[in-house]
Amino acid sequence: MSRPPIIRKQIRPNQQTPNWSDYDGLRATFSWSSARRELTGLPHGGLNIAYEAVDRHATGANRDKVAFRFLGDEHSHEITFSQLSLLTNRFANTLRALGVQQGERVFILADRIPELYVAVLGTLKNGNVACPLFSAFGSSPIATRLSIGDACVLVTTEGLYRRKIIPIRAMLPGLHHLLLVRDDAGAQPIAGTEDLAQLLRTASDQFDIVHTVPEDLALLHFTSGTTGTPKGAMHVHDAVVTHWVSGKYALDLHPDDIFWCTADPGWVTGTSYGIIAPLLHGVTSIIDAADFDADRWYSILESQQVSVWYTAPTAIRMLMKAGAAVAHKHSFPDLRFIASVGEPLNPEAVWWGKEVLGLPIHDNWWQTETGGIMIANTPGFDIKPGSMGRPLPGVDACITRRAPGGKIEIVSQPGIDGELALQRGWPGMMRGYLNNEERYRQCFSDDLYLTGDLARRDADGYFWFVGRSDDVIKSAGHLIGPFEVENALIEHRAVAEAGVIGKPDPTIGEVVKAFVSLRAGFTDSEQLRKDLLGHARSRLGAVMAPKEIEVVASLPRTRSGKIMRRLLKARELGLPEGDLSTLETGP
Ligand code: AMP
Repeated sequence: MSRPPIIRKQIRPNQQTPNWSDYDGLRATFSWSSARRELTGLPHGGLNIAYEAVDRHATGANRDKVAFRFLGDEHSHEITFSQLSLLTNRFANTLRALGVQQGERVFILADRIPELYVAVLGTLKNGNVACPLFSAFGSSPIATRLSIGDACVLVTTEGLYRRKIIPIRAMLPGLHHLLLVRDDAGAQPIAGTEDLAQLLRTASDQFDIVHTVPEDLALLHFTSGTTGTPKGAMHVHDAVVTHWVSGKYALDLHPDDIFWCTADPGWVTGTSYGIIAPLLHGVTSIIDAADFDADRWYSILESQQVSVWYTAPTAIRMLMKAGAAVAHKHSFPDLRFIASVGEPLNPEAVWWGKEVLGLPIHDNWWQTETGGIMIANTPGFDIKPGSMGRPLPGVDACITRRAPGGKIEIVSQPGIDGELALQRGWPGMMRGYLNNEERYRQCFSDDLYLTGDLARRDADGYFWFVGRSDDVIKSAGHLIGPFEVENALIEHRAVAEAGVIGKPDPTIGEVVKAFVSLRAGFTDSEQLRKDLLGHARSRLGAVMAPKEIEVVASLPRTRSGKIMRRLLKARELGLPEGDLSTLETGP
């Protein structure tokens, strides 16, 4: 069906007036310093994300408002802003009593349970750096991240501890405290761990937030590149200004909203928008710990009266696959805005939202390094389906190209593909990759932060995603570094070398596919491939492990020895092989 290139903005009669409806006007008058003044600041000076998110509401008109509603099979569990303040005080006091010093890192590995949220916010109150990890990771990515991040404290559940931490405990000598959410209250202590519930029970619920300043480190989020180990992007308390502004203008949060961000806090979206931004706006968030299920998700939108919903293309495509009939069993009179992030959102999905849910899906773009949404479609403006939208106030985006001498230049004319770059200067930008200054430096050309994404800008200032400039894989919205997967595969005794690519998939964007060559004495068989898949799954967890393995005689390498993933991918997809001048052609 041919459809118009634009969906005109349409505000329903019962809807809020959008926070932003004069695109150029707000961009012209906006400044980060005035946005910062919309926040409160610590009572005796300084800035702390948890204070802005929790305590300033806990003492004001929002004190009895629900901050989080955790959905359960039978009952849901609500935490108000004032209860959240007391709980996070207890957690902060626990860290203080353990002697955890300002700036030390507290990792949280848990499903979406209340303790995760309390631990992240309590960590910030004590001036420590919070690092939530995705609980579906296998032991190997967990160990890598805990050791790069020099974890001092790990908060986790008994089940995850037994399955994923015990095998790697000896590799983490700097991990001083393991705080466990136990299965049974009052069960026998587990040697080398402490019972979180007991610690919280005995801790005071009064706490003076540590005097953090805007440039103090607050959050550590891992992200993957093409080569090398994952990078720990460091964010400071000043990022709260970006969370506030993007919550207001990109997600259009209003005080009476019921907000549902479906991302897990183990990824940056689940922290910036699953925890911080809605709290800043005094908004109630819905938290669902269960896995995706179309009917369940529609029931949540309906029964929880969700008004703003932030989700991802993979989930939308899965809903599309489930069929419109499942959606039509429900009605969503309260839903007024749907946004999506993480992968390209095809125009078909934007229209599907409009036709089946009554609202188009608004794509937006950002990445771990940017700390918050940078480019967005918002309710105050027309949408161009397939486009990521336009830059937020305070964000200057451009398309760049490498000039013949190697210098990065801004492309001023529209319609040209090039690397997407952002002018330095917004508060949410990472302040570095932990212990990797060189890699951080490579992200910049003068005042431009180079995103690693290829994009195009049209004459109306809308940005269109073209692809990644590297070999990183996006599978179900999760960024996966091929190198980490290859490393796990070559630990298997049958594997001589491994090359990993993302293979396009209509639902989850890309699936991880591995090519391996075998050591002498091993031959290809279905059983061997099964073993390899099982090995990768147990090391990496289901999200990162390859779904397909192909045994090949050898892998294409450059003359300098790097695996040519680009060539593996072209061959897999039957595409032109491109420039092969660097291909090692054998002895
Ligand atoms: P992460 O750092 O894990 O959040 O992943 C960031 C990357 O996801 C970006 O650099 C893009 O490659 C991709 N991404 C995020 N949002 C979008 C979007 N709206 N359209 C296309 N790709 C996106």
